Amino acid sequence: EEMRGDDSLHNVPRQVPGYHYSRVRPTPVAAPRLLAWADELADFLGLRKPAERGPAVEALAGNRVTDTMKPFAARYGGHQFGSWAGQLGDGRAISLGEIVASDGRPWEIQLKGAGPTPYSRRADGRAVLRSSVREFLCSEAMHYLGVPTTRALSLVSTGDAVVRDMFYNGNPQAEPGAIVARVAPTFVRFGNFQLLAASGELDNLRALADYVIRRYYPELGAPTEPTVYVRWFEEICRRTAVMIAHWMSVGFVHGVMNTDNMSILGLTIDYGPYGWLEPYDPDWTPNTTDFGTRRYAYGQQPNVGLWNLWQLARALAHLVPNPELLRPALDLYSATFAATRHEMLLGKLGLTDQADAADQALFEDLNEALAAAEADLTLFFRRLSHAAPAVLATPEAEAATWQELLAAACYTDQPEAQQKLRQWLPRYLRRLRQETAAPAAIRAQMLAANPKYVLRNYLAQQAIEAAEAGDLSVLNRLMQVLKTPFAEQPEHDELAAKRPEWAREKPGCATLSCSS
Ligand code: AMP
Ligand code: MG
Ligand code: MG
Repeated sequence: EEMRGDDSLHNVPRQVPGYHYSRVRPTPVAAPRLLAWADELADFLGLRKPAERGPAVEALAGNRVTDTMKPFAARYGGHQFGSWAGQLGDGRAISLGEIVASDGRPWEIQLKGAGPTPYSRRADGRAVLRSSVREFLCSEAMHYLGVPTTRALSLVSTGDAVVRDMFYNGNPQAEPGAIVARVAPTFVRFGNFQLLAASGELDNLRALADYVIRRYYPELGAPTEPTVYVRWFEEICRRTAVMIAHWMSVGFVHGVMNTDNMSILGLTIDYGPYGWLEPYDPDWTPNTTDFGTRRYAYGQQPNVGLWNLWQLARALAHLVPNPELLRPALDLYSATFAATRHEMLLGKLGLTDQADAADQALFEDLNEALAAAEADLTLFFRRLSHAAPAVLATPEAEAATWQELLAAACYTDQPEAQQKLRQWLPRYLRRLRQETAAPAAIRAQMLAANPKYVLRNYLAQQAIEAAEAGDLSVLNRLMQVLKTPFAEQPEHDELAAKRPEWAREKPGCATLSCSS
């Protein structure tokens, strides 16, 4: 209501000055069919699983717009790879509206790939099955890992072909199309504010800020005085720091941390060419578009978070009497990130905080040792959760236990490469011995902090290739296993193993383009 919408309902690509969003109609697809459904999220929203085809699936594909829906595409801008890109907007995402969930709050339902909007620029407004499977699986996997994220309700195949510059052979190729229904309290991004500031629409900027604060940050109070904007920005900084600390903890690499892909709620948003660290490597990125500068590599993510918040601050500066008022929040970001990262690493290693400065050095040396040994991040911490308490209980087994851990977790068996990690382990054990908890309690703490199952890049690719061939069993199995990523689930051990050699350089498994 407080937001300004362009109601002209025509989806010709254009600049849309003066508005927060444009009313649009999804473009119907040929033959929608439900491929996957997130049942727990659906329960939370009060929705029942629909049949494979039928009116509900027609709605999830954009073919049916009911009277209570008010489909719209949001207008936003952003910095892409460090450069201001002007108006971007929802080029292929169309929000149907909101439904009140069992928490009593409104949740926005957004179709990704539902056809062109005024923000589609030269692209088609569609999404391919491959990228839709990836968004669907990863949104839910992240949720179950405890990472702040947007959710995914459904995956629908459209029956239409979509042409992309497919990376398999470099030639344009038709691929099956799909639509994911994403769910979040709101999909507003840093870029919504940036565009309004950049185009001098300061009334609209204030209206959007007030709307977001009233609806999503009510605890801050009504935005009647400038200090509310300052405290709001602090909270955005805090949440962004916590989100990125989670990413670092589980080895998630977003891949495209442009400011249009940064949620104003501190949620992981826009799953594109993301990936999961397998061999630990701070310079690793899955995104082929970023192979030159590696701006969005794993180890860069904390710095990029700060850079992105800085850009948001420049936009929000128009709302406060003095831009300097926003600076302490940027320091809060750095402090929150460092503290959260530290706390998470303590948890992953079964340690409690003893305010010991040596712990920081222990962590830094671990990261160096993991990189040298090409240790699989997930496997190393999960195996350590069993191994370290075992050595505490049975010291004479130490050498054999470490040997087994290294063999299971490292992608190289070169002694020189593993040397740092071999030296680190006894040092860590001495620190662990200072803990008063019993080995069993330490193991429980570590198992709850170190997931056994993550959406390994090659596993997602296997689910995609099977789905493209009409077999949904791999997708269904991953969905099921990734719901309880901290549980042993021994019947699924093979999904918690080192990346196979064949997947090392395979497109989709190791490298991804932005084309989706
Ligand atoms: P992304 O890199 O996926 O975050 O997208 C950047 C911008 O490009 C956003 O404005 C998207 O809406 C837009 N975009 C990406 N893919 C398409 C597509 N197939 N059709 C229309 N717009 C797109
Ligand atoms: Mg995006
Ligand atoms: Mg995207």
